[in-house]
Amino acid sequence: MRPYPGRPDCDRAMRVLWEYVDEALTSTTARAIGSHLETCERCNPHLTGARAFLRAVGACDRWSRAPASLRVRVFRMRSTREMDR
Ligand SMILES: [Zn+2]
Repeated sequence: MRPYPGRPDCDRAMRVLWEYVDEALTSTTARAIGSHLETCERCNPHLTGARAFLRAVGACDRWSRAPASLRVRVFRMRSTREMDR
């Protein structure tokens, strides 16, 4: 499901949100995505939530951090539910 139909920048930003917060994107992509995530009123709350999630998980136990693929699935489920409200 596309989070924001008709908003390709938002769709793209949401697809790579976790790669962005994990600093796994190339610097060029990270700059473009970061600029969108920091300024877009729809995407910025997701960025804030992702960072808070990582901080909370990191504070629990750095060694049991979930793999990126699991975080992506959890976050997408959460995002989809928020959009259904
Ligand atoms: Zn956006």
